[in-house]
Amino acid sequence: MKRVLLSASAICFSLFLFPQTIIQKDPQIEKMINEVSRDSLKSYITKLVSFGTRNTLSTQTDATRGIGAARLWVLSRFNEFSKNSGGRLTAVIDTTIYKKDARRVDRDILLGNVVATLKGTDSNDDRIFIISGHLDNMRTNVMDSIGDAPGANDDGSGTGAVMECARVMSRYSFPATIIFVAVSGEEQGLLGSTYMAEKAKKENWNIEAVLNNDIMGGNNINEINKVNNNQVRIFSEGFSVLDTGRNATTVRNLGLENDGKARQLARYVKEIGERYVKNLKIVMIYRNDRFLRGGDHTPYVQRGFAAVRITEMNENFNHQHQDVRVENGIQYGDLPEFMDFEYLRKNVCMNLCNLANLARSPAFPQEVRIDTRKLTNFTNLSWKAPKSGKVKGYNILMRETTSAVWQKKFFTTELKMDLPYSKDNYFFAVQSVSEGGNEGLPVLPTPSGR
Ligand SMILES: [Zn+2]
Repeated sequence: MKRVLLSASAICFSLFLFPQTIIQKDPQIEKMINEVSRDSLKSYITKLVSFGTRNTLSTQTDATRGIGAARLWVLSRFNEFSKNSGGRLTAVIDTTIYKKDARRVDRDILLGNVVATLKGTDSNDDRIFIISGHLDNMRTNVMDSIGDAPGANDDGSGTGAVMECARVMSRYSFPATIIFVAVSGEEQGLLGSTYMAEKAKKENWNIEAVLNNDIMGGNNINEINKVNNNQVRIFSEGFSVLDTGRNATTVRNLGLENDGKARQLARYVKEIGERYVKNLKIVMIYRNDRFLRGGDHTPYVQRGFAAVRITEMNENFNHQHQDVRVENGIQYGDLPEFMDFEYLRKNVCMNLCNLANLARSPAFPQEVRIDTRKLTNFTNLSWKAPKSGKVKGYNILMRETTSAVWQKKFFTTELKMDLPYSKDNYFFAVQSVSEGGNEGLPVLPTPSGR
């Protein structure tokens, strides 16, 4: 009896000292996701398919067919959205001459990404959050720039997601900047995203997250023969190839192989997405991309940015990179009739709530440290205020070493926290929280004295 009482009072004491964070939804973000429209997504994709082909090597002079006409149309939509943004959303086609290569480009081409930038309202906040999809597509033969290639799902779905987020979000304001981009050249070898990621690196853009959406609107059957419209995959690299070379010893000593930038972002996207979007489970896949395949997040990952890929749960390869045809009674081709626009709507909402929560959060807490001066079974964390953003306080995140997701959050308004849990047995991180409750990306502490 005595032991029971003791443990009950210990629990009370512990709860008193370590109040777990009360999770609140941001009413404005809820409002935004309610504005995401299935009909508007369907109309974008119908229009994209109407360009016949969007192969990167296709015509750029025809007014109604090919990649040139398609990117001008996306630009015109962005410019339309801009009218409701109070001048904050600006759009351009960012072009470069891409020289003929020995792989998938048989002549010099004008490569163009359609980029809309929603400028942040805080001039001290230089953070950038990117949502990307690819405008281009392909037939069975990637070099065929003439024949029809509808590309409804690959990647009309990602392009539609980018456009719908731009439409809704440009009517709201965020302290940080959001970039909405429809790139070209994905099927020809990630050309447009490589161009943009390289530019970002050269110009030192402070990109904190890239959400690459590619093939996300098909509710294809899964292994047990059911429509799957309530799960979506997020692919992330466990630890950046760039960092493993430099910090291999640290990674090994601290067991950080599951805590690289992209994996942290994936964990965050899962938490926030599932908080805001009903009937959607976000399934983390511990790979940078699908088996031996690539996507537009990779050029960012390779340059040290946090970038992930979002893709439907089960791809249907009859409707991907296939000429439109009927063979043995099977319809092939990436046609809109094989898409589920309600599923796509949910996946767009998942992107939107993440972009919004991130762009409204304060910047990272700085100098996050874990005190290792002496051996104890406790954990003592400290940090400094972020460079930008109004902070209500900080969440300390905690998870067991085998857990894929953060399991507990403790809130404090101070710049330190002492926890009665051993740093040997858990991972910890700290995230800034805005006055409206929007959390930034978590930062893992580095070992040091206070
Ligand atoms: Zn694709």
